[in-house]
Amino acid sequence: MDFCETAEKAYQSMGIDPALWIMGEEILLDLKERFAQIDETCEINQLKVLSAMQKNRISAEHFNGSTGYGYNDAGRDDLERVYADVFHTEDALVRAQITCGTHALSLALSANLRPGDEMVSISGKPYDTLEEVIGIRPSRGSLAEYGVSYRQVELTEDGSFDFDAIRKALGPKTRLAAIQRSKGYLTRPSLSVGEIAEAIRFVKELRPDVIVMVDNCYGEFVDRCEPSDFGADMTVGSLIKNPGGGLAPMGGYIAGTKECVSNCAVRLTSPGLGREVGASLGINRSLYQGLFLAPVVTAGALKGAIFAANLFERFGYRCIPDGKQKRQDIIQAIEFGSAERLIAFCEGIQAAAPVDSYVAPEPWAMPGYDSQVIMAAGAFIQGSSIELSADGPLHEPYAAYFQGGLTFAHAKFGILKAAQRLYEKGLIVF
Ligand SMILES: *Cc1c(COP(=O)(O)O)cnc(C)c1O
Repeated sequence: MDFCETAEKAYQSMGIDPALWIMGEEILLDLKERFAQIDETCEINQLKVLSAMQKNRISAEHFNGSTGYGYNDAGRDDLERVYADVFHTEDALVRAQITCGTHALSLALSANLRPGDEMVSISGKPYDTLEEVIGIRPSRGSLAEYGVSYRQVELTEDGSFDFDAIRKALGPKTRLAAIQRSKGYLTRPSLSVGEIAEAIRFVKELRPDVIVMVDNCYGEFVDRCEPSDFGADMTVGSLIKNPGGGLAPMGGYIAGTKECVSNCAVRLTSPGLGREVGASLGINRSLYQGLFLAPVVTAGALKGAIFAANLFERFGYRCIPDGKQKRQDIIQAIEFGSAERLIAFCEGIQAAAPVDSYVAPEPWAMPGYDSQVIMAAGAFIQGSSIELSADGPLHEPYAAYFQGGLTFAHAKFGILKAAQRLYEKGLIVF
């Protein structure tokens, strides 16, 4: 690549056809106003995080890690206070020992449900990996094995909460209502914080004793408020998605009431030990710095998703959300209708990565999922889906779920590269 070249030439030397690049520039011109709104949300969230760090007097010593039992780990403990302040909750548990989003959700559920209790998912089918956690698909160690029963209330045809059905589903055994903000591997719309707020209010009015848990994966910092601002008892997510800002090497969080979070702490470690143990080793700095960057990284990912929708709509594919819709998370689903096109898209995303760009992704039977999945990810952190990544289960409608990008420039390039790949395989024309 030459130095000091034009953008068009730079893209061309990275394999992007000038006609495709021009198409991308036209689309971006039309998106100026929307991107400005995203920047404003980003600024508000940046100040929110900054204010929480200042309030908790974060200093260089917080970046020291602990080993062994991990007693008196001020960095870890104050990070949890920072999270609680960002999410406006009484308390938070933010730990490396929470291995992923599924684990965080599993922990939140198993810590707060007892034999004989019932949980109700009021936003329809939960994320694939939770099926085994709950026991919807029989599984060793599931909540069902421990005598926790499960009910599901479908969303209405247009993807909103079915309040009548929720009222009927809340029975004497109901202890917890679960809401999933993001669509996950479904093509329903994701739920807005406003809609979630209304559902929380509805459940709490009928049954103040029922715990409301929100799966917040992919939703953090997309909006100016979080579900925890509207009375969710637990707001749960993964640190290798939005709130880790791409720097967190692992971990999950649960922000919520003192009662619920304390239950999670003793369940994560052990009764009697709770949050007092759990060495942070050397990751405190990355968790702080990642959270600090998270509003900006999330904004970039959001812009990438919007750009992808607008580009692939031009090629005639159904995009969810569509190019114009308001965003509730950073996920962009694109329905390709065939395995060949889905695979080509993922190959393009992989070829755009800073890491492992030379390998070709292949479908595989991933643990926790019930059909083959193809994943494209050339990430610095394994499985990190705040980094540019795409995945999709190999069944109808052959939808690619595209997300992330640590910078918008990279997301933009990845999307163009994916379109280029489809073009080179004769699957689209421009
Ligand atoms: C990613 C995700 C999960 C699970 O998180 P993992 O870190 O992959 O285990 C759960 N729910 C939703 C909505 C997600 O997007």
